[in-house]
Amino acid sequence: MRLSRYFMPILKENPKEAEIVSHRLMLRTGMIRQQSQGIYSWLPLGKRVLDKVNAIIREEQNRAGAIELSMPTLQSAELWQESGRYEDYGKEMLRIRDRQDRPMLYGPTNEEMITDIFRSSVKSYKSLPLNLYHIQLKFRDEIRPRFGTMRSREFLMKDAYSFDLTQADAIHSYNKMFVAYLRTFDRLGLRAIPMRADTGPIGGNHSHEFIILADTGESEVFCHKSFVDFDIPAVDTDFDSVEGLQSIFDKWTSVYAATSEMHDEAAFGAISEGDRLSARGIEVGHIFYFGTKYSEPMGAKVQGPDGKEHLVHMGSYGIGPTRLVPAIIEASHDENGIIWPASVAPFDAVVINMKPGDEGCDTTCDRLYTALQNAGKDVLYDDTDDRAGTKFATADLIGVPVQVIAGPRAVAAGEVELKDRKTGARETLTIEAAINKLTA
Ligand code: ATP
Ligand code: MG
Repeated sequence: MRLSRYFMPILKENPKEAEIVSHRLMLRTGMIRQQSQGIYSWLPLGKRVLDKVNAIIREEQNRAGAIELSMPTLQSAELWQESGRYEDYGKEMLRIRDRQDRPMLYGPTNEEMITDIFRSSVKSYKSLPLNLYHIQLKFRDEIRPRFGTMRSREFLMKDAYSFDLTQADAIHSYNKMFVAYLRTFDRLGLRAIPMRADTGPIGGNHSHEFIILADTGESEVFCHKSFVDFDIPAVDTDFDSVEGLQSIFDKWTSVYAATSEMHDEAAFGAISEGDRLSARGIEVGHIFYFGTKYSEPMGAKVQGPDGKEHLVHMGSYGIGPTRLVPAIIEASHDENGIIWPASVAPFDAVVINMKPGDEGCDTTCDRLYTALQNAGKDVLYDDTDDRAGTKFATADLIGVPVQVIAGPRAVAAGEVELKDRKTGARETLTIEAAINKLTA
């Protein structure tokens, strides 16, 4: 992408309304724009990051055996009347009437709809286990939307829903998502800690919130420090192995971790003082086994091996991509701007032409730009007439992992400079070597 032809409306000043660094940087870099309270457009730079986050989420969901579909944002109130949640949901639900005066709503979540899809077509235990997910906009009329897309009213959610014949099978489905989440957050460059969450009347140990530690987080959390060293399940993890997944779950839930709602002062106090971590955190995911809570009122049953009808056991599994993007920034930035982990960076590299119009600089940059693109890299080419200082500041601000700097003197010697955004390390390489390194 040539910057001169791109749409990246950078702000020179820090926007006053932004209270936390991620919100400030997302506005300054022109990643997002607020359209009305808690409702955002994702401008091209932001959209690139969001798409990469979604791609990683999707890959890990698929690896764990979940199947993608797409459900609408607008739902009929009828389904919610069946489950009994239409009245309960309260003011967070945006209620709408269509031209026939039928009650509709903008979905805050999809348990009812997926249960309806399930019951209309699945009749036998032989179709189980089944886990269906989508990545779709939700609307919750939050009482305090804030921090940009961290807590917005319209936001994206990956929500998966599992269906099983028995509780034991449902726990295996739960463990699949547990492992998929550990892998997902790790690939996003984050260390997320699963913390026991409230299961309400259902009880048990099968609701976890995945929390990222950050000073600006809205939740107060308490955990054992050892989480930092736990191994992330490998890419070849066998998701069909009941024991294998259970042992990963057991390991990751073997030490204390809880949000303030579930906090147990005595259990936390039992940890030696040096290993206690009390901090603030951002909830980026939530998984929940809820048994027959929806299958019962909505009549979602399958025929079991015994020939009898059984209510299916369900779980739901949410991740918020539009919250993850600012969460990643909270975890990875410095005074000059964002530092994207390579896996979600909007571009893999930015080629900076220090002197457009200079034949050597132009030829070299064109060559680099073409070679990197041909190798399948996402490249931003700063071919604008801005001053060199402005170009460097922009490159730092938008946080692209590698800067390839082509100035007249280096280029005349057949060389360019590479700068690593994260470490600041610089090296001078021949053009050939630079291409090799960046396409390796
Ligand atoms: P919170 O306690 O932060 O309001 P929640 O418990 O209501 O979250 P869930 O219903 O479990 O959230 O939704 C699953 C995921 O969706 C959350 O873990 C989060 O990543 C994301 N999410 C929820 N609400 C919002 C929001 N208002 N803005 C952005 N992302 C959200
Ligand atoms: Mg909420």
